[in-house]
Amino acid sequence: MSQIMTLERPAADAAAAPLLALRNVEVVYDDVILVLRGLSLDVPAGSITALLGANGAGKSTTLKAVSGLLRSENGEVTRGEILFDGQRIDGTEPDLIVRRGIFQVMEGRRIIADMTPMENLRLGAFSRRDRSGVAEDLERVLAYFPRLKERTGAAGYLSGGEQQMLAIGRALMARPRLILMDEPSMGLSPLLVKEVFAIIRQINRDLGVTILLVEQNARAALGVADRGYIMEQGKVVLDGTVEELRANEDVKEFYLGGAGDQRRTFKNLKSFKRRKRWI
Ligand code: ATP
Repeated sequence: MSQIMTLERPAADAAAAPLLALRNVEVVYDDVILVLRGLSLDVPAGSITALLGANGAGKSTTLKAVSGLLRSENGEVTRGEILFDGQRIDGTEPDLIVRRGIFQVMEGRRIIADMTPMENLRLGAFSRRDRSGVAEDLERVLAYFPRLKERTGAAGYLSGGEQQMLAIGRALMARPRLILMDEPSMGLSPLLVKEVFAIIRQINRDLGVTILLVEQNARAALGVADRGYIMEQGKVVLDGTVEELRANEDVKEFYLGGAGDQRRTFKNLKSFKRRKRWI
């Protein structure tokens, strides 16, 4: 294996100091809309950590709080702290956060439609301090996503799955230590979800890149993650290893069951169960 993109590969050890930690984070949009209400979570170095929850729980907001992209939406971290490698990053400009090694793969891919896949990938390397090894990294990324090599036209014409692969490939070109992934399964067929998630797992294992994975598709996320958090209404309501989460009756019923009923919330489900016990 070339050394070009081989990052240090720490074991995913939940007991060690986490690479990323959120402590009682509160986020407010437009000075008044409170969305994160004291959210705390740890992302161990080398892990894939899943952040699950229904629509509007605040998952994307959590990622944007970490990457600093909140500001472009008039959002602000008003309480708590965000630590990357032990240092505060809340309040840091987004471009500096990228330079520290955090790269967000946005929901809906956000590739540059007019540019070719290759140009999009090269753009990913733009934030790197170390510009050497870009060609080698490109080869490595293309080894994960060989079909991107065959697509020489504008990236806007790529299929949904290919665009998702391109977005992940572009993130890798920045040589990040932490990738924030926002719903990579969105809009993909079940077969493609499987393929994309297998590559995500492979990348994590090969390169040691830590991944915070936001998903509504709990089954797919828990299939690749080491641990997970379930959030509702801006707070974590449950966390554990994937084995613990998969074995949890409420998680099975609400998140891993058939067609999840969006009107029920995990909190309601628990209080419903409590009521049943009391009666
Ligand atoms: P989804 O899975 O639907 O993307 P999510 O869990 O990622 O949901 P967020 O997108 O973080 O949730 O949204 C959480 C809440 O914050 C929602 O009520 C949403 O309306 C609100 N919100 C998100 N972005 C903004 C914004 N720019 N301005 C005001 N409110 C916002």
